[in-house]
Amino acid sequence: MRYTDFLKQQCYIDGKWCDADSGGIFDVLDPGTGQVLGTVPKMGQVETARAIDAAEAALPAWRAKTAGERAKLMRKLYDLMMEHQEPLGELLSREQGKPFAEGKGEIAYGAGFIEWFAEEGKRAYGDVIPSHAADRRIVVLKQGIGVVGAITPWNFPNAMITRKLGPALAAGCTIVIKPASATPFSALAIAVLCEMAGIPAGVVNVVTGSAGQIGGELTANPKVAKITFTGSTEIGRDLLRECAETVKKCSMELGGNAPFLVFDDADVDAAIDGAMISKFRNGGQTCVCTNRFYVQDGVYDEFVGKLADRVSRMKVGYAMDPGVDIGAMIDEKAIEKVEEHLEDALAGGATVLAGGKRSELGGTYFCPTVVSGVKPDMKLAREETFGPLAGVIRFTDEAEAIRLANDTEFGLASYFYSRDLSRVWRVAEALEAGMVGINTGLISTEVAPFGGVKQSGLGREGSKYGLEDFLEVKYLCMGIQ
Ligand code: ADP
Repeated sequence: MRYTDFLKQQCYIDGKWCDADSGGIFDVLDPGTGQVLGTVPKMGQVETARAIDAAEAALPAWRAKTAGERAKLMRKLYDLMMEHQEPLGELLSREQGKPFAEGKGEIAYGAGFIEWFAEEGKRAYGDVIPSHAADRRIVVLKQGIGVVGAITPWNFPNAMITRKLGPALAAGCTIVIKPASATPFSALAIAVLCEMAGIPAGVVNVVTGSAGQIGGELTANPKVAKITFTGSTEIGRDLLRECAETVKKCSMELGGNAPFLVFDDADVDAAIDGAMISKFRNGGQTCVCTNRFYVQDGVYDEFVGKLADRVSRMKVGYAMDPGVDIGAMIDEKAIEKVEEHLEDALAGGATVLAGGKRSELGGTYFCPTVVSGVKPDMKLAREETFGPLAGVIRFTDEAEAIRLANDTEFGLASYFYSRDLSRVWRVAEALEAGMVGINTGLISTEVAPFGGVKQSGLGREGSKYGLEDFLEVKYLCMGIQ
């Protein structure tokens, strides 16, 4: 099949493909060409309420299936995703801008959550608790929470959905998904695959359109038991506020400001490899991307020199062209933020060692950039840049590095390189982050708990902890005669 076979221009509600009641649509652009890739319905509150009703109606039968029965359907979904990895990856790359190799990689990564949770759903064990009284017995059940509302971002149009869809389906929940308006086609393609896999109508629904209206209905409707969101801290705060009214369970994967520390005892070449992957994957547009490099005096010059050399050899280009390392950024606002952070750093005395400007390809292509001499109070060290701009800050001792790394309201990912075992433990324990990459720049996998502390979020995705977030605990107290 070709990617166009998966390019659905309608929403999926209650097992039917449908348009907005108003007939409204909006364009979806290929950020790499600026051309219209297709259109999707502009739905709002009414259609969202309909999708929630469908999810609620589908809930009893889906919940009543055994975990093994659900797992069989999920396995089919996984197999279909992998079977069509190429066209799905192409669709993803064309709507999102990431190089095709990364687009295909994301499909495999995303499918992994479906496979893993299908298996883990069978292990949603409860408990039998030794009783406090001779005439009582205590049993704890874990039950799927109910109808889930999922709101997802554009940077991983497949995997940020499957990370929520996998545990929801495995736990016996039904779901209404609102994908980012920049990348709805990968979400609708997942609905196509759910239909092909035979997942019953109403279990999975995808609604595109107005974020405020769809989000507003998902957070306000009492039939929705849980909101799971990946996006900015700012929107996450609003959603939490809205959910307070009906006291919904919330999972929030919010912004990050990941530090990357390189100590004098590090393997610098390994640190460069880690830096490249953690900073420039998806053009720097991931919430676990390194945002600030802190490098100790003794290896500072070697590190910045080698990093600049590697970065200056990266190939910028259209996602589907061979050998491309960096694709187009998602939109003009994104590239302007990179420019703003760069200008602020240069005004404060930082130096460009590689890149430093838009690419001659035009559009939203930006040359991957390294700047040295960055100060901790500059914008690129304080705010999430979300682009291919690496700023390097010098430090002298471990305590200073930890203080600087933790000096942020965010606490998602962090990374450091050291070969001293005692230091590895000290620093790992001291970093205020939900995830710590130690001598590696790549930490995401479906088998491990992904999530943040501080204002980077609530809850975890992936792993057994990710399933817990979709389960409620029910305590049975049984009197016996
Ligand atoms: P980013 O654009 O950096 O991914 P956002 O937080 O702006 O982060 O968007 C993430 C998701 O949240 C997208 O699907 C977006 O459409 C949605 N969104 C944006 N504003 C709202 C809102 N007010 N209510 C609900 N969802 C929203």
